[in-house]
Amino acid sequence: MPRLYLQVALPVPLRKTFDYRMPAGFPHRPPVGARVKVPFGSRELLGIVTHLSDHTDSPEDKLKTARVLLDPVPVFPPELMELLQRAAHYYHYPVGEVFDAALPALLRQGDDLFENMVHWRLTKAGLSLDRVALRNAPKQLTAWEGLQLHGEHGMSEDFLTHMGISRDSLNALARKGYAETFGENQQHFSHPRFQLAEAPLVPNAEQKHAIDAIRQQLGRFQPFLLEGVTGSGKTEVYLQAVEACLHRHRQVLILVPEIGLTPQIVSRFRARFATDIALLHSGLTERERLKAWRRAFLGHAGIVIGTRSTLFTPMPHLGLIIVDEEHDLSFKQQEGFRYHARDLAVMRGQLQDCPVVLGSATPSLESLGNARQGRYTHLPLKERAASAQPPEIKLIDLRGQKLRNGITDAMHRAINLRLQHDEQVLVFINRRGFAPVLLCHACGWQAKCPRCDARTTLHRDPVRLHCHHCGFSERPPMQCPSCQSLELKAVGAGTVRVEEGLKELFPKAEVHRIDRDSTRRKDSWQNLYDHVEKGTAAILVGTQMLAKGHHFPNVTLVALLEADSGLMGADFRAGERVAQLITQVAGRAGRAHKAGLVLLQTHQPEHPLLMQLLQGGYSAFADTALQERKLLGLPPFGYLALLRAEASAPELALQFLQEAVTGGQGLGNEPEFWGPIPAPMEKKAGVYRAHLLLKSDHRPRLHHFLDPWLPLVAKLPSAKRVKWTLDVDPQETA
Ligand code: ADP
Ligand code: ZN
Ligand code: ZN
Repeated sequence: MPRLYLQVALPVPLRKTFDYRMPAGFPHRPPVGARVKVPFGSRELLGIVTHLSDHTDSPEDKLKTARVLLDPVPVFPPELMELLQRAAHYYHYPVGEVFDAALPALLRQGDDLFENMVHWRLTKAGLSLDRVALRNAPKQLTAWEGLQLHGEHGMSEDFLTHMGISRDSLNALARKGYAETFGENQQHFSHPRFQLAEAPLVPNAEQKHAIDAIRQQLGRFQPFLLEGVTGSGKTEVYLQAVEACLHRHRQVLILVPEIGLTPQIVSRFRARFATDIALLHSGLTERERLKAWRRAFLGHAGIVIGTRSTLFTPMPHLGLIIVDEEHDLSFKQQEGFRYHARDLAVMRGQLQDCPVVLGSATPSLESLGNARQGRYTHLPLKERAASAQPPEIKLIDLRGQKLRNGITDAMHRAINLRLQHDEQVLVFINRRGFAPVLLCHACGWQAKCPRCDARTTLHRDPVRLHCHHCGFSERPPMQCPSCQSLELKAVGAGTVRVEEGLKELFPKAEVHRIDRDSTRRKDSWQNLYDHVEKGTAAILVGTQMLAKGHHFPNVTLVALLEADSGLMGADFRAGERVAQLITQVAGRAGRAHKAGLVLLQTHQPEHPLLMQLLQGGYSAFADTALQERKLLGLPPFGYLALLRAEASAPELALQFLQEAVTGGQGLGNEPEFWGPIPAPMEKKAGVYRAHLLLKSDHRPRLHHFLDPWLPLVAKLPSAKRVKWTLDVDPQETA
């Protein structure tokens, strides 16, 4: 029999796998996708078996021996192995680190895959055995000694393997009647069970068309773009598609932007289905996360709902994938392994032969592009389901207006009117780029972060200046450091200031602030939400958080105090993001039987983007934006990769990127190089950052270029003086 070597992916920043010898005591063919512990330099690392091979390129004397096999079955079944390896290749990220990112932390640290691991103990015969009986079997003797330590209580097999005792020697002892296993071993896989807990709604024609289309494709790969304005009944389409999938004893994977902020979608699934629903989100302890993960892994959970990384949860009977709010930026991992969960969801659907439903009121231009080219089936929901009226959007010209606490007279009157009718008003602040800055009224000095090209933000309770880019914080000065004037003023409006301003202008109204600070405690958000849901007159003040899928049935006016800062963003997606934000926020108004009004204060009322949104809604905006992108060859008509570099001096980062450009010449398939240029915020946390954008009009060609180019880039002499990363399909290029 040929000797087999293990190929192991390890969490190290090297784009390769490593070969190991198998120790005696390993099963003849360890499962591919299982975890192993191996020596690496002077350390021991946990890796994933990617391959068994009868051949190795490593010289015999360099080859080390693996230590412990942790899993009797793969942690990553074949289709997940394939997904993760493809993802590593597509994002040009070290495969071992990709596996690492996909594992729950406790499994990464070596916890048991199954909850009740097999336990071993000595039998009566074993307990009274004389050690000389085993003197010719040293391994069995060690195992017997190990078991002696814990007497009748026994110990888990996992623990024993940690002590270097192999299952083989334990089995040998068992055959002689000296040792036995005990304890329940719950490693059975099963299909999910479910019951309908409430009757489905009767779908309208558009919903029915969408539900039927998805149902017909169950068991096959097919991406869908479910485009429906807020309140059009997308969730009901999900629910009925999920029902059909559960009927086939298959599991459903649902990705959402942030569970903590959208508890409603979870409660609607709970209300509809009596089935095991596994939730995976950042609010869980690692122990809770592993428990939920196991239920998905074993096939018990019918529905698995979670954020971005939930995509990597093994599900043996996966039958449907849903990505809700597919345009949301939180699906893109912005550091380390920079993947896009929506794009990988489509890849996973392809590998597991199941439909993938991408839902949004404001789809990304990438998904719209795919729908228009026929790659995705487009399922539009144009009507609001519960016959609610679409909101009306109006602009208020800020130019030359007298403002009180950031509010024009027209806005003031509109808010007052709604409060008098016992309705709720939602005041939305686009806080990005609109934070309170400490400014000297005498000389114009502004409080800045010493480590970044950024202004610091003034916070209260306690009063401090904070840098939102690097975490720097300091006490504000008593007088201007530049001219010694005492006239220091906070300019710009954060949520706290707007809240105070509103309380001043509407002294009798209830004002609630909803942002990350006011909802940090787990229950505070729910309390606030329950309170608001009662629907008595109130003003709600909040940030981006409020744009995410909440139902506030008594909100009839949505006020955006400042729509401009987003319009001026440097990123080519700035327009798309503002259009999505405005449309999403507008969707909060008038959801039930009351018509909603959206008022936007702006300095640029004739801005083409705003005009289009007002006249034709998001889809009119998207048409024009797609034409523009086509003209410029930008996504979805072009393909981008962004090489970022940071260094202790500005020249170092730029020089490295320039050498990277030069190094790419003559490789073939060369993309267009845009840059290198300093990053828009060049200095951040004391380091200097620069960008090089690669653009190609052909996706495979871009990757054929990146494949040979990256190893060259890594070997550049200047690479040693910078920290660099590659971002494939970057979502933020500025
Ligand atoms: P979305 O997810 O698109 O924002 P929802 O699915 O939450 O929309 O639906 C909005 C409201 O309309 C909900 O209160 C829902 O119960 C109701 N609704 C959805 N579909 C129907 C239907 N077919 N008949 C009656 N009410 C519906
Ligand atoms: Zn000054
Ligand atoms: Zn800073």
